[in-house]
Amino acid sequence: MTKPRVQSLQTNGRRRLIRWALGAYRLGIILVALVCLRFLPADDAELDRNVIYSIANQVIFDAHSNALFDVASVGDPVDGMYPLISKDNLTVGWATSTSPEADKIQGYSGTSELLVIFDVDRKVKAVKFLASSDTDGHVEKVLRDKNFWEQWNRKSESSLGAADTPIVVSGATLTSEAMSRGVAARFGAEGMEQWFPAPLVLADVKKWFPDADLISSNKTGGTYGVSNGKESIGTVLRSSRMGVSARGFNGTSDVIVTLDRDEKKVLGIGFLGSRDNEPYVNSVKEEVKFADGFAGKSVDVILGEDTWVSPSLFTSGASYTNHAVVESVREMLSRHIAEEQSAGFSWKSALAIFWIALGVFLGISKVGGKKSVRLGFAVVSVAAGIGLGWMVSQDQLLGWGANGFGAGAILPLVVLTAAALMVPAFTGKNVYCNRICPHGAAQTLLGGMVKKRFHLPAKLHAVLVRLPWATLIVIWLLALVGSGLPFAYFEPFETWSSGFVAFVPAAIFTIGLVAAFFLPQAYCHYGCPTGAMLRFLTQSSSAWTRKDTVATVLIGAACLYVFL
Ligand code: SF4
Repeated sequence: MTKPRVQSLQTNGRRRLIRWALGAYRLGIILVALVCLRFLPADDAELDRNVIYSIANQVIFDAHSNALFDVASVGDPVDGMYPLISKDNLTVGWATSTSPEADKIQGYSGTSELLVIFDVDRKVKAVKFLASSDTDGHVEKVLRDKNFWEQWNRKSESSLGAADTPIVVSGATLTSEAMSRGVAARFGAEGMEQWFPAPLVLADVKKWFPDADLISSNKTGGTYGVSNGKESIGTVLRSSRMGVSARGFNGTSDVIVTLDRDEKKVLGIGFLGSRDNEPYVNSVKEEVKFADGFAGKSVDVILGEDTWVSPSLFTSGASYTNHAVVESVREMLSRHIAEEQSAGFSWKSALAIFWIALGVFLGISKVGGKKSVRLGFAVVSVAAGIGLGWMVSQDQLLGWGANGFGAGAILPLVVLTAAALMVPAFTGKNVYCNRICPHGAAQTLLGGMVKKRFHLPAKLHAVLVRLPWATLIVIWLLALVGSGLPFAYFEPFETWSSGFVAFVPAAIFTIGLVAAFFLPQAYCHYGCPTGAMLRFLTQSSSAWTRKDTVATVLIGAACLYVFL
């Protein structure tokens, strides 16, 4: 081997090593950012003492002079109880919030937080409203109801955890009851987030399984196996335990669906309870009792029914309740099927992994560069996007960072994400954007339909290409400060999996695809934060860049914020 050849091999080897090292470093930056999300300080923000101070000053009276105590300060909390301190440095009362115990208790459409103020003997002086994410109109109704707010007055702290029947506000029953349950939960009542606390018992399912002698809860919440002592004879799905809560006219119902042994046929449905308007629920119950339209139908048939004009259930004059029940039944069945499929490695997963592997191969091989192959595979990717809806997105990455992920149901998405991040880091080729991403592929196909292409003026282009980077930084900063924003609203990808449901992703989706007719890969160039992240992995593969410096500084700051 000649000397120059040896030198060239050494140089190539060195370059490859630098590229791998830089790729690994950049990938490491992204992983560290995800770890930071996982270890974000819990949102245990203390109550604003100024708020306690101003409310307490309106309710703490001196029993002797019958004048307001001048609460001078609010002390440090012990077990969430803030001492109210007078000018003479005496404890004249206590205050506590119903959060975090009430944070899971949904009213009409959100949770509420109340402030409970005690006198020095730990008897309730007042319960006051702090905040609510429930519907404004319902909250307003509750705020105006004096009886509701006075129901706790003079009760001792030890009696507040009793889950007795609270006074609720007519026209805002769910909101007011959720607030009351929040108070009970704060003082020790268990299961307050559960609106239908009674367990499922054999008597509830005897109608469909007369021989049943055992009902057991499966691993998946809300699914129960029924057996006759020897073998399984059916399955029961329960809406309240599956988290299915379609709302009727005035509330949700706890509906059960019974399935035969093979889980192909519905045996019937039943009601375990309801928070909807009684006359409407009774009409639907009667209908189901005497002519259960679901009984004997296959799961597939029911899944195909229109929820507003279902042939399985139609109760005149109770259309909202009717709709809510059909909607619940369908939702339970489709979730159950999805769970069953994800329990094993389905053909869908196998197909998805084949699509990803082929995309990676075409992305790194010469054959993938041929126009016909590129366009052919773009069609496959669009079909995969429509059929599977699995895409790499910031919302998904942030969610995995904060909450972790499990294999099984999302194994193909794990493989897709790993390929999108790791292949560019170690090969310098952005195979996800170039071959696999359905949204990128759709833009490629749409762009090919119009001969005349436009290009933005150089100056405008230079400004707009920074947008994806800026969006990426904003998204991650918001995530790291725990903003809790719906990050799916920054990208169009949700529309691929759930259709045109949410307005913002649907608008980004539509505008991006329309723009692609005229500007090549318009959204990829000027909008996509996920594309920016993947380009970060492939940029200047053997040299440190300004983006590396910015990313290192930002991640360093995030680590200091999270871990120190
Ligand atoms: S830039 Fe965004 S939309 Fe374009 S291909 Fe990449 S991930 Fe998909």
